[in-house]
Amino acid sequence: MKAEETNQSATSLRCTVVVTTWQRPDALRHTLESIMRQSYLNLETIVVCDGEDSDTRALSRNFEGSHLIKWVFHPNNRGLAAARNTGARVATGDVVLFMDDDIVADQELVSMHMQQHLSAGARRRLVVCGRITENPERLLTSYLDRCLRDATDRIFAESTSALLAPGDESIGDDVERGLWCGLNCSVRRTYFLKEGGFNEYFRASDEEMELGLRLHLAGFEFVFEPRAQLIHMNTKDSATYYRSSWSHTGALDVYRVFTLKQKNAQTQRLVSMFHGYMMNRWATRAAWHLAGPLRSLSRPLRNAANRTQWHFLVGAWSRMTQAAEYWSSVKAAYCTLPRLKHVAGHSKCAVMLHSVSAPRSDDERSYYISPRRFHRLMRYFRAAGYKTATLEQWLKDDLSEKHVLLTFDDGYDDLYEALLPLVIEHGYTPVIYLVVDHIGASNMWDQKTGLRARNLLTLAQIREMQKYGVEFGSHTLTHPWLPSVSDAQLHSEIHDSKHRLEDLLGVEIASFAYPFGGVDRRVRSAVAGAGYKLAFTVRPGQNWWNDPLCQRRAEVNDRTTSLNFACKLRSGRSCTETISARLRNMEEEFPTKLLRDMARGVRKIGHGLLHLHTPNARNNP
Ligand SMILES: [Zn+2]
Repeated sequence: MKAEETNQSATSLRCTVVVTTWQRPDALRHTLESIMRQSYLNLETIVVCDGEDSDTRALSRNFEGSHLIKWVFHPNNRGLAAARNTGARVATGDVVLFMDDDIVADQELVSMHMQQHLSAGARRRLVVCGRITENPERLLTSYLDRCLRDATDRIFAESTSALLAPGDESIGDDVERGLWCGLNCSVRRTYFLKEGGFNEYFRASDEEMELGLRLHLAGFEFVFEPRAQLIHMNTKDSATYYRSSWSHTGALDVYRVFTLKQKNAQTQRLVSMFHGYMMNRWATRAAWHLAGPLRSLSRPLRNAANRTQWHFLVGAWSRMTQAAEYWSSVKAAYCTLPRLKHVAGHSKCAVMLHSVSAPRSDDERSYYISPRRFHRLMRYFRAAGYKTATLEQWLKDDLSEKHVLLTFDDGYDDLYEALLPLVIEHGYTPVIYLVVDHIGASNMWDQKTGLRARNLLTLAQIREMQKYGVEFGSHTLTHPWLPSVSDAQLHSEIHDSKHRLEDLLGVEIASFAYPFGGVDRRVRSAVAGAGYKLAFTVRPGQNWWNDPLCQRRAEVNDRTTSLNFACKLRSGRSCTETISARLRNMEEEFPTKLLRDMARGVRKIGHGLLHLHTPNARNNP
């Protein structure tokens, strides 16, 4: 099948609905009838029957569709992922939309998907996710069943609201954990095929999550379209499904991490006993050791929950079942604690500075640093045994706990005097993010906000520094607030700056820093599309199994005390930020609402006491 780019005009985008099925002709008939009622007419439907079955074969002979419908039969059952890939390969549409055989689609569903693809144009690579409502008419046989359905609805609502979140809330670990591309999701067919489609190793579950995250990392932009609605006529027993899906997830996480090298927000659970806060690590370790006994407790707890209708028992059942099934399955995949510890690795820290020069106003203290303070902090850096990381080491994860990446945004010319001698003497490998249109000129973007004019490094100085091992990255052409520029400007700021720098410096420019820390899904996606391997935000914290294009950095400026600097080198956060983050995390881990509320109260009081000064929310230049 050729994955050729289509020449059709944008208004005639063709949609292929891929319906996968096996041995469920009655449900399939209802599904197909709802697809035949679609208001969008430039449509074909491909039914992939995943294995030969006579009832579906009979339906294929007598089903009358109002528009084109093709039937494909796999000789043997190969799993949902393989069936969907077959559908996409046979498709002729510009966009493929995935459906199961137990749904009822709203009449406007396809039309709503296609509107999103039409308005985004062909350059932006979208995954459009529609709304899925679990069958409201289904008879829920037990209390646990009802609770599980509520929980499914809640999880779906959380992951879709993350897709609707504005600005930098639309990216990061929490969003990535919920990303999926499967039922009621559409994507341009050529892009889907280019990324390799679904991973066919995944036969029973998690293939939608795996593809979702893979597309996200490759730079696809996820859009939630709530008007593309369907009802999922699910008939599975919820508790059994819950157990078996956690059991599959354990083994699949092992495969994802060890074989596919997918260390990301979705697979972090596998090594959670080695990372994060103590309480969580202990609980996970206990679950690892007790997986067998916990499993045998699952059934009595389930019965007790149904009998008493006590929500607390449902919570206990679900946690226990999840832990027991997940860890039993991980152990069955020949994982041991030492293997997991080894693959977990450790976190990486980066610090962000700007100009090394005496601040002349209180405002400037929030992002400049005086040479005296800078040298004092760097003396501590060396005395405490820290070394600077290179970008290459960072990308390869080839770092010790004592490696820290030093980054400088904007490229002020004082770095030539203040930083280069340290590079020569101590072999530092800092990275400087340059504003390409302003090389050798001044910080125009700050002057607009009333800050004084400052000179930026000249090309001669940059080349001189490069000889001594200083690395450079792109900080765009003109330092705009990227979330609000047009698609065309976004492309040139991100793409052209990379290529111009590569021409000027004769090396690959693999890293990027978002001006003012301004990033959202669209901006991130453009950075991925331009081929950057690493991009830095201004969010504080450590980097561990997180998005390479949303890396965190701790800011160091003239307000940074030695104590805070020490904290930042260890944890990517100042001391107060560390305590606050730890308390917030503990809150989430407490088992009852009362304890969580109490912890929140303590944190708020503590925050009030520690809130001596917080640099104002002005965006970092
Ligand atoms: Zn900047």
